[in-house]
Amino acid sequence: MSIMAQFGMFNVRIVEKGDVYGLNDCLTYKETEPLVEFYDIRFINDKDWKRGQFISRYCVSTLLETGHYPQGLSLMGYEPSLNVPAESMTEIIKWLKESTPRWKPDDDLCPECGSGDIQVIDRIFDEECREYGNRCICWACNHDWHVTEEQ
Ligand SMILES: [Zn+2]
Repeated sequence: MSIMAQFGMFNVRIVEKGDVYGLNDCLTYKETEPLVEFYDIRFINDKDWKRGQFISRYCVSTLLETGHYPQGLSLMGYEPSLNVPAESMTEIIKWLKESTPRWKPDDDLCPECGSGDIQVIDRIFDEECREYGNRCICWACNHDWHVTEEQ
C-alpha cells in the first residue's frame, strides 16, 4: 500500500515498487526509487479524484537532493496557487526521509562522519561495470557518495 499524507491544501503520496499509479491507477510501479505525487485536495471527489486533482510527480531523490525550499516548491510554473509553501516543504522533506526507510542502506555508516543517519537518494546503473550502485547522502554532514551493490 502506498503512503499518503496531507500538507496544507496538498495530498502528498509516496509511490513505491508494486504500487499502482497513473491515470485511473492503471500502471504498476516497477522501479526501486520511490516517486512522490502531489494532489490538490480542493478538487477531491469519490470518483476519479479520490486523492484530489493530480498535479505532478517527482523522483524522491529530486526532492531530497535539493532539500531546502526557501521559496517553496512551484508545482506548475504558470499557476501561482500551486506553490507548496516553504513551511510545508520543510515538513514534507522530513516526512519523506522518515517514510522511505526501506530505501535506506542496511548497515552502512557515513564514511565522512560515521553517522548512521544516511539514505539512498538514487540508484545508478554503471554501464562500464554492468552493475547497480546506490548514491547515498548523509543527513548529518551532507556528504554524498556512491556504493556498488554486492550481488
Ligand atoms: Zn556524514
